Amino acid sequence: MSCFDFLHGLRSLLTRKWTPFRYMAVAASLPIFASLPNSGCGGTIENLLIPTGQEVEMGEQFSKEIEKEIKLYKDPEVVKYIQELGQSLVKVSKRTDIAYEIKVVDTDEVNAFALPGGFLYVNRGLISTAENESELAGVMGHEIGHVVGRHGVRQMTRQIGLELITSLVIGDNPGMARQLAGQFAGIGGAIGMLKYSRNAEREADALAIQEIYDAGIDPMGMATFFEKLKALHDENPTGFAALFTTHPAPAERITNAKRDITALPKKAGLRKDSERFQRIKKRLPALKPVKKK
Ligand SMILES: [Zn+2]
Repeated sequence: MSCFDFLHGLRSLLTRKWTPFRYMAVAASLPIFASLPNSGCGGTIENLLIPTGQEVEMGEQFSKEIEKEIKLYKDPEVVKYIQELGQSLVKVSKRTDIAYEIKVVDTDEVNAFALPGGFLYVNRGLISTAENESELAGVMGHEIGHVVGRHGVRQMTRQIGLELITSLVIGDNPGMARQLAGQFAGIGGAIGMLKYSRNAEREADALAIQEIYDAGIDPMGMATFFEKLKALHDENPTGFAALFTTHPAPAERITNAKRDITALPKKAGLRKDSERFQRIKKRLPALKPVKKK
């Protein structure tokens, strides 16, 4: 049986109605799957995808935990703009089977993050730091890319272990997603979980470039913003530590992004900025200067 057949069989077992036989079959096959060599379709445990319904449930629980610790920014004009910009990227993304929820976090910290299942958070500091709409779209597109690539749920899968995953994919323990979210509770846990591999970052960048371009926005904004972040971080590594924990921007990523962007077919009328973005920026409070530590 090829790796593909094995995966296919396992997936179809997971999506059918639960029976004791299926439970045993799945429970028995998971360790085999996990021990498959990491080649071809990939025998690593994180490649065994948790079904979308469970992923969304986990993301939702997770977002509830996180929102106990963060303060959301509620200015309706700002929130509406961010949601509309995000949804214009989601619409052209490669994953439209879930409803994305986009919120603004009331913090100066320059960052954005996405939880499994499409829960997206954009920090106020990021909006203020972006010079134009294409730069902001670049970072948001990157986060949507993590959701499209299911990087968060893969990461979680890797961390929680086989036994729990068996329960989760079979769905025999409805409280499981909530318990797991509790385990990773808090922003610290989330940041730890959202440390993606270099490959995941590369994939999110590539997906973002395509989304931004397809949405009619100039993708070069992504590269210029990464350059800006790298410069900020080089100048003051501790002041921008949080950003770089979740979004390392080595020169290689910038080079790759520029290469992918120039390879795109020429398209007239790509939007670099909008009046609305500049208006939104003016509504935000000024950022406090970052202290050098
Ligand atoms: Zn990332």
